[in-house]
Amino acid sequence: MKLIDTHTHLPGTLFGESPRPVEDIHRQFEAEGIHQAWFFTTDGLIRDTARNNDILAQAVRGRTDMFVPFCTVDPHTGADAAIRELERCARTLSMRGLKLHPWLQAFSLTHLSVVPILKRAGELGLPVLFHDGSPPYSTPLQIAWAAEQAPGTQIVLGHAGLDDLTDEAIRACVRNPNVWMTLCGPSCGAIDEIVRRAPPERLLFGTDGGGFFQNLTAWYVAKIRACVSSRRLLEMIFHENAERLLEVAREGAREK
Ligand SMILES: [Zn+2]
Repeated sequence: MKLIDTHTHLPGTLFGESPRPVEDIHRQFEAEGIHQAWFFTTDGLIRDTARNNDILAQAVRGRTDMFVPFCTVDPHTGADAAIRELERCARTLSMRGLKLHPWLQAFSLTHLSVVPILKRAGELGLPVLFHDGSPPYSTPLQIAWAAEQAPGTQIVLGHAGLDDLTDEAIRACVRNPNVWMTLCGPSCGAIDEIVRRAPPERLLFGTDGGGFFQNLTAWYVAKIRACVSSRRLLEMIFHENAERLLEVAREGAREK
């Protein structure tokens, strides 16, 4: 079955990972049966945002059949500067989404630059994937609040509430038609709950892979297959919903 991993990272150095040549990651993903990986920086979530956007864009050059690069911006620079970087990434670096990590980047969803950034991302056709599941700044309902202020932007909960905040993640998706979630982190019990209550057309597959752990893809695929019996729903989770999400985001763009 076709597999789209909507949550992967280029390893950096700031978390003790080993930097890996992107061709290794590409080969590994292919061998694991991944057809497309949405690909984010790691180090850029801590420092040197623009430089790490450049590094990621350079890494995927000539490999965009596999990698869908997401940029990041730092809300603390203020809305104008963050939006300038977002526009540079979309127009000059051909990046196709935005990753935000309120926990690592240490910003509240109520920071005054967050909603303008989200709105501009939607206008540029970029979906926004958030780290979620970690209080105090990354709870699903905090992200849902921001998603309500930017209804034309497609927002992804990158961890579906992890395990402790599954209920919030489900409520966020049910409440907001522009909120999706990646089943990256929740236990089988939580995934079971998500499958029973959340909109099936907005569930995505993802691993947080790329460098942190070995054999993640096989493990996550087995886990989802163990939790989801419907073949139709597996097709939606493994690739169809991710494909549609990129289309919906592109169609929502009001400016190229
Ligand atoms: Zn991540």
